[in-house]
Amino acid sequence: MRRALRNILLLVIAAVLILGGVLAFNTFTHGSRQLQAAAVPRAPVDTQAAAARLAEAIRFRTISNYERPDQNAEALRDMHAHIEKSFPAFHAAAKREIVGNYSLLYTWEGSDPKAQPIAFLAHQDVVPIAPGTEKDWRQPPFDGVIADGFIWGRGSWDDKGNLHSMLEAAEAMAKAGFRPKRTIYFAFGHDEETAGTAGAKAIAALLASRGVRFDFVIDEGLLITEGIIKGLDKPAALIGVAEKGYVTLVLNAHAIPGHSSMPPRDTAIGMMSAALAQLEDHRLPMQIRGTVAEMFDTLAPEMSGFNRVVLSNLWLFKPLLLREFEKSGPTEATVRTTTALTIFNSGDKDNVLPGNAEATVNFRLIPGDTQASVTEHVRSTIANDRISIKPFPGNTDPPPVTPTASPSFQMLNRTIREVYPDVIVAPGLMVAATDSPTTQELPTRFSGSRRCAQIRMI
Ligand SMILES: [Zn+2]
Repeated sequence: MRRALRNILLLVIAAVLILGGVLAFNTFTHGSRQLQAAAVPRAPVDTQAAAARLAEAIRFRTISNYERPDQNAEALRDMHAHIEKSFPAFHAAAKREIVGNYSLLYTWEGSDPKAQPIAFLAHQDVVPIAPGTEKDWRQPPFDGVIADGFIWGRGSWDDKGNLHSMLEAAEAMAKAGFRPKRTIYFAFGHDEETAGTAGAKAIAALLASRGVRFDFVIDEGLLITEGIIKGLDKPAALIGVAEKGYVTLVLNAHAIPGHSSMPPRDTAIGMMSAALAQLEDHRLPMQIRGTVAEMFDTLAPEMSGFNRVVLSNLWLFKPLLLREFEKSGPTEATVRTTTALTIFNSGDKDNVLPGNAEATVNFRLIPGDTQASVTEHVRSTIANDRISIKPFPGNTDPPPVTPTASPSFQMLNRTIREVYPDVIVAPGLMVAATDSPTTQELPTRFSGSRRCAQIRMI
């Protein structure tokens, strides 16, 4: 008996040692994937003047509105005049076109006509201020205040900050007499926040009609972040190579209308409520695959502590990690096709059973899921043929993922390492929508970068 106990104990010790060995092996044999690049000296920038120019741009209330697209016409025209005045050398070097009334397309002709062009995207418009929240702003949203080392206001980040960064760089280079080898397009849409159909889509159509095809496109997206993950002490520059898809489904439950004095078992509101509860209870599964898996593989070797062990051994710790991710919206969104119940309409009288109940559900799809697979998930989860499911116009599958082995990713990666030598570069998934997929079906595709941000092959 005592011998049997001893054998079990020895087995347990052996198992623990083997497990520890495997964990340590996986943790320390995954070498760094960071490119070795010599740091280049930073270009001198008059930060005060650049900040003042961006602050001025924030003062134009270029709020886009789906129903009234012309409401910000004057603000956009003022913004155009501001851009023209702020960047004279660039305007002398590049050709400007106005597309869809308010979008700007600049062509900076390259010296080598055979070299494939590239495009930089940003948008001029901003989202409105939620009514009643004006007093919650630490600085007024449209005053363009510079204080405490920051430029404050709506659009300072999304996306006038990008637009200005690009033009500040282009202006300095044009002033120094630089001419690009390949043609560079700058496309600044005016309605990104309301789908981009009049702006980015029109620009893409125009370029397609001219037979322009890009080597790559850089658009708003991810950024250089600090403290995104415990155990990673250095800032991380995430290059968005993938973007989520956008699917809205409208569900309609049909029932016989009637008087509330004799209600049947199946009512429209009852059926719809049950269906929606099912959808919230049976959300699409969390998954670590594709770009997100590659991001962890790239970050893990740069980390220290227990989190490095976890990320290096997802075969064992995946459930633990997913449980942590599920606790917050932003992290959960990177590993799951999200389900959001956004609109519910039914009934208008307290003693009448309505003939239908309508609900709108918005899904953000991780790459790998499609409009068809999500619709099928909804159909089988609600399992009720008296509820119809209709797609919203403008739904999109996740756009194609840019391979990290591509020369354009590698070039952007190297450039970030040269300019910011202490930064870890990794691929990332953009969880919000940009102008990029709006133009997906066109031969000239715009797609998904902030300071370093998002890149997509054409
Ligand atoms: Zn944006």
